[in-house]
Parts: sequence; structure tokens; C-alpha cells
Amino acid sequence: MLMFTLSTPISAITHIGKKLAKKFEYLGVKTAADLLNYYPFRYDDLRAVVPIKNLQEATRVTVKARVVSINSRRNFKTRRSITEGLIGDDSGAMRLVWFNQPFIAKILKPGAEYYFAGTVKTDMLGPEFMNPVFEAVKSSGVATHTARLVPMYHLTRGLSQKQIRFLISQIAPLATTIPDWLPDDILKKYNLIKFSAALGAIHFPDDETKLKTSIERLKFDELFLIQLRAELARREQAIVAAPPLKFHAPEIKNFVASLPFQLTSAQKIVAWEILQDIEKPSPMNRLLSGDVGSGKTVVAALSAYNAFLNGWQVAVMAPTEILAVQHYNSLQSLFGAAVTVGLLTNSEFAQSDKRLNFKSPAKSRAALRAKINSGELNVIVGTHSLLSEGVNFKKLGLVIVDEQHRFGVAQRRVIKQKGQGAHFLSMTATPIPRSLALVMYGDLDISTINELPPGRKKILTRLVEPSKRAAAYNFIREQIKKGRQAFVVCPLIEEGAEENFAASAKSINLFAPMVSANVTPALDKRSVLSEFKRLSEKVFPDLKIAWLHGKMAGKDKQAVMTKFKSGSIDILVATSVVEVGVDIPNASVMMIEGADRFGLAQLHQFRGRVGRSNHQSYCLLFTSSDNNKSLERLKFFETHNDGFALAEKDLEIRGPGEVYGTEQSGASALKIAKLTDKILIKQAREAACQIAGDKILLPTIKQRLQKWESEVHLE
Ligand code: ADP
Ligand code: MG
Repeated sequence: MLMFTLSTPISAITHIGKKLAKKFEYLGVKTAADLLNYYPFRYDDLRAVVPIKNLQEATRVTVKARVVSINSRRNFKTRRSITEGLIGDDSGAMRLVWFNQPFIAKILKPGAEYYFAGTVKTDMLGPEFMNPVFEAVKSSGVATHTARLVPMYHLTRGLSQKQIRFLISQIAPLATTIPDWLPDDILKKYNLIKFSAALGAIHFPDDETKLKTSIERLKFDELFLIQLRAELARREQAIVAAPPLKFHAPEIKNFVASLPFQLTSAQKIVAWEILQDIEKPSPMNRLLSGDVGSGKTVVAALSAYNAFLNGWQVAVMAPTEILAVQHYNSLQSLFGAAVTVGLLTNSEFAQSDKRLNFKSPAKSRAALRAKINSGELNVIVGTHSLLSEGVNFKKLGLVIVDEQHRFGVAQRRVIKQKGQGAHFLSMTATPIPRSLALVMYGDLDISTINELPPGRKKILTRLVEPSKRAAAYNFIREQIKKGRQAFVVCPLIEEGAEENFAASAKSINLFAPMVSANVTPALDKRSVLSEFKRLSEKVFPDLKIAWLHGKMAGKDKQAVMTKFKSGSIDILVATSVVEVGVDIPNASVMMIEGADRFGLAQLHQFRGRVGRSNHQSYCLLFTSSDNNKSLERLKFFETHNDGFALAEKDLEIRGPGEVYGTEQSGASALKIAKLTDKILIKQAREAACQIAGDKILLPTIKQRLQKWESEVHLE
């Protein structure tokens, strides 16, 4: 009976013209199989078929009745067309009304029997349906749009629920022809129904149980594919050769002893995990996660030092110039003269490296590259410029990527390629729930620094009312009198200018805008330049104030940061360029203008710029937004210092893509599974490990994996 197969292009399916096919293409549906895989996002429960006399106000039900009369007229005042009908069953009669659908009067035939479904409204004249869905009662008794759990799909303009349901019902029988791609033992072990059954029932479930088991099966499939891919990647990594970096105990002990502080036990544990891992002859692939200020840098430095002691080069990549320069400076002072450290970024200040002492930027950059390529430089710190052509490490043993979530998909791929055969350490300050980590980073090992260095005081956070602004400035003045420093973060560079997110993104040409569209913009958009002017002329004429933003030339930025670090600037008015990594232990106030314009994770990063020593620190939030959602978010931030809680809340509000930059992770490919499906995630992982352990992958699994990879465009 069926004239088409799963691979039949959608346009060849009966009733789908060119125009409709285009709409489906817009939804990513090109073939019959795609259409089957286009799952509903919810179900309208219209199972109750109720006699008219038993209808109850406000219930959603189906009525099986014959059309008594139907006609359409136009209301000349409102210019709306009104279609009114009367239907009856054995128990009584009821009215139907549709607005702006005059054609309905032509479709419904008086005397014929239909299902009508909607929400019951009753008045003096009895029950009524407004804009009910209807369909003819078929001899088979099978309903599509009424009298069942009715699937609801995400649509696009010009496509209706009825159309898509009808088309899917046409091809649904194809589902039964699909052989299962998972072996029986897996299905049995995890109590899963057949794929074909799931694919049919996900669209037209007979009951809740069938729906539940279908959802479970399809979720499992998605999670299993992600886990299988991760597990295969792990196994592939395990057979790649990497230099075993032996633990140089005495030197490392000296290094640790020379630090101005004692390592926390969490730092010791993760350092140990890393040192053990890089001793192996296959590449480490590890994510070091720890809240802002937990002291990841020194752990990275220690690993880098150990790689150096083994005679291998280390690349350290940071997402911003400011951060790269900071790492460059701190690594130099941590290592001392024995280790040669180089700095490679895209702007000219990078070449003002005192040791290299070259005049022309281009020339010095070339010279720097030569020193990287010859192996003369031991540790090379840089931005994404480390990825540029012409940079070819002589003996790269360890790659460290700081704030890895700030790098885009393409960059991460290049980093991987450049670092082939080297050990990998990524760092992130955005804490990640375990089940999410499994989905996103199933191929990585994770080390977590779960404590802050001792003596840190809780950063006191306040959402300040606009009327208390003067008091806030007085407070800042007192802090500065005590010898502290302050940040003032603004969302814009200058009034009327493009948003700072976009602007700073452009200047380093790396990041997509960091704030999602669903963060409501405030009316007042304070800018760095106007705030600088106001603060330096009117509010703090006696204090030393400077500004900083992403569009400044690299050397200007650096000059400002150096002055701020040395304490010769009291207040730094900046854009989000100070968001990640910047370490100014003497700063104790972080004041954020237009706070509603930033995501929670980002605010937490800003706040993490203070409280990096034993000085009591403060975070002051300003907003002129009266949007309830924004205020609720900021209130939550006010009372939560824990990055983990904030990340979870942020996840809830913005989703994993925004919070973790997951576009490439596969998590974004989840159509039906949720990151909260903890048990399924665990089971999928277990199953994936079992399957990946088989010598030869089942052809059906291999095929399915390849298809999935091409669909989600993974690296
Ligand atoms: P993050 O994890 O955010 O990258 P950093 O590595 O920048 O944090 O460290 C934050 C600050 O804490 C730095 O000033 C660093 O020198 C300091 N620090 C790191 N470890 C310790 C420790 N064990 N005790 C005291 N201070 C530390
Ligand atoms: Mg850091």
C-alpha cells in the first residue's frame, strides 16, 4: 500500500506540494524519516468522548455528534467572519463558533458525524465550543486530531497542526518496518521497547504507558549515542601516543614550597590527579573545574613546570589578551629564570616582550614564532593567536586551555589538532553538575577544586536601589581610603554605541555575544566612557580613575592593567573585558551597572574579580530594570555565593548552550532527552561502555552513529 520508503523526499509524499516541502525544510525535515523523527513537544489529552448532556464547564473533551446546521457570516463592524454551527448527539445539542475561518461552513456537512474537541464553555443557552478542532468519524474508528492523546508539534508559519498530524499519520506505518539498531540484550537489560514501536507511539500513543515507554526509549537512544561517541573517543585517545611526563618530585616539592601560600588540599588532590595522568604514554584529556578564585592557575603552573622538567614545551591559551598577559607575568615570576616563557597574542604589545626586545611587531612576532618552532621557548602563553599558521611547536607536551568554555567550536577543534599527541588540560570556572558533565564531556576526565583557599571572606552582594547610589559611592570612597581598589563594570563602551558584548567580541574576533536574547535589556545603558567622565569629574574628582574596554589597543589595555595591579589606579571603569580571570587581589569592590544585562554565570565571574585575598569584599549591583524576572534573578544572585547553585539556576533560565557553550557537545542535539534524566544518562553510559568494548561495532550501531554525527555536525 505504501508507495514510499523512509528515504523518500518529503515533496514526494502525497499532499505535500513544493510550498509545503519548503516549510518542512525550514524545520529540518527533508525525508519521510525526518518527519517520523520530528517528535511532538506535548500532547493534548482529548481522550474523553462525552455525551453533550454530561459536558462540564472548562473541561477539555471530545464530542461525537452530527452537524445540525452550519453557516458563516461577516461582522461588518469588526470585519471578522463568524462561523456558527449546531451539533447534536443522542443526549442533546450544543453550539460551535469559529472566528475567521469561513471555509469551515463549506467543509462540515449537515447530517454527517464528526468528532469535535475543545474546552467546554457553558452559559444560559447550554454548552458551547469556541474554535473546536474537528474530524470526520472514520469507519475504522481511528481518530487523529481528537478523541485521543493528540500530538502537538512545533510549527512554522503556514503549517498547521492538522497538516503535520495528517502527514505523519500517513507515513507512521513506515515506522514498523524499521529494524532495531540496538541489540536485544541491551533492550532487555534496560527494559526498553523496540525502536519501531517507540517511533510510532511517540506520535500517536494509545495511552500514557505507551507514551512513557516510547519517550524513554527515544531518550535512551539520544543519550546512548552521545555516550558511545564519547567512549569511542576515549578509546581512540588511549591508543594515541603522548610523552609520559615523569613526576619530578624534588623539583615540584621545591616549587610548591616556594609559593607564598600553602596549597589547599583540593589543589593538592587535583594536582596529583594531573601529575599521575600525564605520566601515562597516552594523552591526558582532563577538565579542571573549580569556582572562581579557587586557585586553578597555580595547579596549571605546577603541571607546566613538570612538563618543562621533562624537556617538553607547554602551550597556555587564554581567551583574552588581558588574561594571557596576566598568565605570562605570573608564570614568569612563579618559574624564575630557568624557564623561558613567551607571550604570543594578536596585538602589538605582545611583542614588547622585554627579553626579546624587538622593535617591529611583525618582525618580533616572526622571531617569537621562530623561538617556538625551534623549541627555545619552554612555555608559550597566548590567545587564539597560538593557533595561527606558522606556529609549530618543536616538542609540545602539554596544552593548557584556560576558561575553555569561552573558546568557540572552531577554535577548540584547531587546538585539538595543534596539540595532537600532547596532554590536554582545560580549565573552567563554571561548575558543572555531574550528569551534565557526562553528557557534555563524556570523553573527558574531570578534576574539581571544591574549596576556596582559607581566609577568604564571603563577598557581600547587594542589589542597590537607585536612590542609594550616593551612599554606594561613599562606601567605595571609604574602601579606597582603607587602601583598597574598585571595579565599575558597564554594559557599553560609549553611549549609543553597540553593545559591549558585541563590540569586545569583534575586537578580539573570537566570541559570540555572551548574553542571550532572553535577558531583557534595561533602559539605561551606562557606558564606560560616560561613567568615567561622570565619576572622575563629579563623584571622585580627587581619586585616580581609568577606563578599560575591548576596543582599546592591546598596549593601552596592558598599560592600564599594569597600573591597576600596581595600585596607582583607584577605580577601574571597564566593560566585560574584566570578566574572566583577571586577578587583582587588592580590589575589594565590584560595582556592576546594568546588572540585568548579564547572565548569572557572567555576574559570578565579575564578582570573582574581588575577594581574592583576605580583604572583605563587596559586590554592588545596579539596575534600572523593573522587569520581575530580571529582579528575581538578581535577588537570587544577591543571596547565592556558590557558583554551583548559580550555574544550576542559570541552566534553568538560559539552558546549557548559553551557560556552557555546548553547541559542539552533543547536548544541543538532545531533542527529547533532558539533562535532568539522570538515571537514563547513567544507564546510557553503562551501555555505551559495554558496546564500545566489543571488538567490532554492530553494523546497525555504526550506521546509526555515523548518521547522528552527520546530523549534529560534531567536530
Ligand atoms: P581561578 O581558579 O579563578 O583561576 P586563580 O588561580 O586566579 O583562581 O587564584 C586566585 C587567587 O588566589 C590568586 O591571587 C592566587 O594567587 C591565590 N591563591 C591560589 N591558591 C591559593 C592558596 N592555596 N592559598 C592562598 N591563595 C591562593
Ligand atoms: Mg583563572
